[in-house]
Amino acid sequence: MDNAENNLKKVAVDWLKRRGVTLEDITYLVYEVQKKYITNLSIIDCRDCVESVLEKREVQNAVFTGISLDELAEKGLISEPLADMLKIDDSLYGIDEILALSIVNIYGSIGFTNFGYLDKVKPGIIGKVNEKKTEKVNTFLDDLVAAIVAAACSRLAHRERDGLLKNTYHGE
Ligand code: MG
Repeated sequence: MDNAENNLKKVAVDWLKRRGVTLEDITYLVYEVQKKYITNLSIIDCRDCVESVLEKREVQNAVFTGISLDELAEKGLISEPLADMLKIDDSLYGIDEILALSIVNIYGSIGFTNFGYLDKVKPGIIGKVNEKKTEKVNTFLDDLVAAIVAAACSRLAHRERDGLLKNTYHGE
């Protein structure tokens, strides 16, 4: 990873934090979703996978785009009819999910299944972000977080299959 990419990853992490989502929130959710599939899953391995997802330029770009639109809508800087759709998180809008799909499949198609589950059940931080919609515009944020978690879960599953999880102990 070159310096520019590393820097953009830090910026993406800061932007998420500014909107109330920490790396720990995302990591914990990855752990919660995957622990039933991977015996003795280590939180460090979950964290590594989340970090790898955030190192990808397409993920950073999706984060910058989605969060910008949420914040511009919050500040009243988006024109109608889009402003209202973003403010009420119109279920027929759908571009929030489309943007998030650019993240979902970076580690294979099981990310797609994970994303569908997370989008429907909204566990952990995704639910919290979704509830805050009365005070904030988080139309893009919930889908971005679900997609990052989904991609990290997918990477975790692939690395487990390949025996590459360093901190997950596999006993007899
Ligand atoms: Mg949404």
